[in-house]
Amino acid sequence: LDQVATVNPTVAGSIVQELADQRSNVKLIASENFSSLAVQLAQGNLFTDKYAEGAPGHRFYAGCDNVDTIEAHAADLAKQLFGAEHAYVQPHSGIDANLVAFLSILATRVENGIIERFGRKNASALTDAEWAELRSSVLNQKLLGMDYYSGGHLTHGYRFNVSARLFDARSYTVDPTTKLLDLDAVRAQVREVEPLILLAGYSAYTRLIDFAALREIADEVGAVLMVDMAHFAGLVAGKVFTGNYDPVAHAHVVTSTTHKTLRGPRGGMVLCTSEFADAVDKGCPTVLGGPLPHAIAAKAVAFTEALSPDFAGYASRIVENARTLADQLQQRKVDVLTGGTDNHIVLVDVAASYGLTGRQAESALRSVGLTLNRNSLPFDANGPWYTSGLRLGTPAVTTLGMGAEQITEIADVIATVLAAVKTDGSSKAKYELDEAVAAEARSRTSDLLRDFPLYP
Ligand code: PLP
Repeated sequence: LDQVATVNPTVAGSIVQELADQRSNVKLIASENFSSLAVQLAQGNLFTDKYAEGAPGHRFYAGCDNVDTIEAHAADLAKQLFGAEHAYVQPHSGIDANLVAFLSILATRVENGIIERFGRKNASALTDAEWAELRSSVLNQKLLGMDYYSGGHLTHGYRFNVSARLFDARSYTVDPTTKLLDLDAVRAQVREVEPLILLAGYSAYTRLIDFAALREIADEVGAVLMVDMAHFAGLVAGKVFTGNYDPVAHAHVVTSTTHKTLRGPRGGMVLCTSEFADAVDKGCPTVLGGPLPHAIAAKAVAFTEALSPDFAGYASRIVENARTLADQLQQRKVDVLTGGTDNHIVLVDVAASYGLTGRQAESALRSVGLTLNRNSLPFDANGPWYTSGLRLGTPAVTTLGMGAEQITEIADVIATVLAAVKTDGSSKAKYELDEAVAAEARSRTSDLLRDFPLYP
């Protein structure tokens, strides 16, 4: 850090400040975690200087032997961890992984047939007219994904995202009353839409999804089942989601981030059946540029950690803690969506419980040392900026070693603070919180953190 400070004191100062910040607030952001120092150090090294476009053993640059070793090793570990036929570890993020997946499904199921029909070797050998036909075929494909307000991700066909421009994107929602996915309704929609891709997975949904049933539904119309397990990859790796609930066992293509429940570096990956392997391995140049070999090194370290027997215990404690959080909040009359959780996320309706927006609740809780994020709820009247909900997650506090006692204390602080927040209805952002209540809550959160220090 001294060397960074010599060159740029602002950056060094922010790193130190970020550590202080993460140490002095309880992290309940469902998409974040604390990766190990081994992961962090593996990522901060001289591999960052290497270009290695292509794939292991097939690079467009010289001197990639060590990158080859690391990338092939990381892919092998990912295959082993998830029982996948094929793994591609280059995506820089979850969004990149989804783009690589989309384009490899399009290549495998749409483009290759057209190229073959014209008797060409590859897309660049097509005439302009043939290329125009290929492009219009590609752009007419249907994607059926989970609606953003029901918990799906932006990349699952939300109109503000490239996915809705690349595809004729349709969405399925949760049931308006139960807020649960209704697979009979999804089946009916799949039969009607006949999508190229049926996309499952979520950023904000708390119940198990039967991926075996979804595969059967996809197979009825010959659709590709793609699952984005960005949020719950750690629960798959830790064998909490098994059998019908294991996406890798049932989907054609599975994408993920590596930094959420999986507790690795920021990054993404694609797992797939052998049918899609060739196209997925062409992620660079189809979507990606040069890989980030330092991030791939850190992914390999994280996969090794996740393969250890301890990780399964960690994954099940994440879910136990989330269940405790949901129970304890409900005992304090907080409205928890679907009445509980099967994963690491708890969704709370603060509009129904307290007449607050998510934005007001998020700010009030952050002011007492609890970091979590506001979140849209199904059919949310407050829109994606103010929202009616909060999304809480237990991966990070579980990494710190917190259990039922601490989670109960957190639930009590949350319910006490939210009950004390006052608004005058003139704004969806402004609120007031009694200073005595805030001070008491702050002291309770710092007591908790003193016993569970980050990187002690
Ligand atoms: N997919 C899902 C389901 C996510 O929740 C997220 C991130 O929040 C992503 C993809 C995108 O990941 P990244 O931010 O690494 O691009």
